Amino acid sequence: MSVDVHPNHIDQIKQTNVGLVYRLIDQYGPISRIALSKKSQLAPASITKITRELIDAHLVKEAEFPELGFRGRPAIGLKVDSEGWQFLCIRINKTSIVIGLRDLSSHLLVEEELPFSVRSNQSFLGCIVDEIDNFFFRHQCALERLTAISIIINAIIDPINGIIQSSPHYDVKDIPIRKFLHQRTGLPIFLQHCITAWTIAESLYGAGKNYQNLIQLVIDDNVGAGIMTAGQMLHTGNHSVVEIGHTQIEPNGTRCYCGNRGCLETVVSINSILRKACQQAANHPCSLMNTMVVNNEPLTIERLCQAAIAGDPLVTEIIYDAGERIGRIMAILVNIFNPERILIGSPLNNVQHILYPAIQKQISQRSLPGYSQQVDIVATQFDNTGTLPAAALIKQSLYSGKLLIELMQG
Ligand SMILES: [Zn+2]
Repeated sequence: MSVDVHPNHIDQIKQTNVGLVYRLIDQYGPISRIALSKKSQLAPASITKITRELIDAHLVKEAEFPELGFRGRPAIGLKVDSEGWQFLCIRINKTSIVIGLRDLSSHLLVEEELPFSVRSNQSFLGCIVDEIDNFFFRHQCALERLTAISIIINAIIDPINGIIQSSPHYDVKDIPIRKFLHQRTGLPIFLQHCITAWTIAESLYGAGKNYQNLIQLVIDDNVGAGIMTAGQMLHTGNHSVVEIGHTQIEPNGTRCYCGNRGCLETVVSINSILRKACQQAANHPCSLMNTMVVNNEPLTIERLCQAAIAGDPLVTEIIYDAGERIGRIMAILVNIFNPERILIGSPLNNVQHILYPAIQKQISQRSLPGYSQQVDIVATQFDNTGTLPAAALIKQSLYSGKLLIELMQG
């Protein structure tokens, strides 16, 4: 929505309004200035001014659209001009780095995954810079106007100051990655946790599009969540993620790397589920798991899901049990956040016919009926790979107006 003018906040209002107009053009373009004025609730004069500035900066362009205007001529509307504007998206995984070049509409131009294994702070930054330089060298001919770099990582981070504070996979401490890369490139640098960025991506382009209240649960090697309430992501402004994975569900359970015992993650992470299937296989001679263990075949999540789809009782029970445990924790989140949708991002989406009813049942039994009845559980549209979540951070910053103003100022 547009914001009333207040003299103390004039820059902030300009930024918000430019972001709003850009978002509407991106979502509805080609769109006429009259329609923009209606949708944004901004005066026609403001629309004329803002769109002129966006056109002058080559961020928006005029385009004919099929709706017939005056005297049957095609109407003239505005659409986003993403040509030549590019940004770099980087995803730092446990043992690899994914680098993607995208244009301003998030369209992927080139993406590569490369091995990445470093030890200390200095070599971490050095290696990232080397990988970026080498990427540019290999793809010189695809490069045009680079406008920002966006980085996502599963680590404890400070996104406001762009610092990687610590990582479960790399022996690093308080890496000022934003400052370092900004000094080298002069570009705006974005840093965010993978799960937070993934939830933003789902809300912009995926299964959470057009929803204002979302919970995205990620069940993978790690168990975590992203929460969007009234259109705003929880914790984007500080170093937290929603750590539901470290909620204790078994007081005498396995020791977790966080220091406590029996965290949800020690029970329902993909590795924990696979371990449980292996352990119980011996007592279930009829199970496909038993056959695999006896034959020394490696147990993967894909094989486990195949066994569940084939109706294997042991595997079905393990997955249903995991769903119930997750559902008990989700019921509390439902009572707090009253989401319209719960998104599940997990390899277990292949067996959602077992997992989702288990989660749903616990939520129905344990949270306020008025809340639980309206929530639906669906799979995320994207998986936990690639650089699209990093692109979502750029899009979000364009829509807020912050990055747009920087681009307009050159
Ligand atoms: Zn823990």
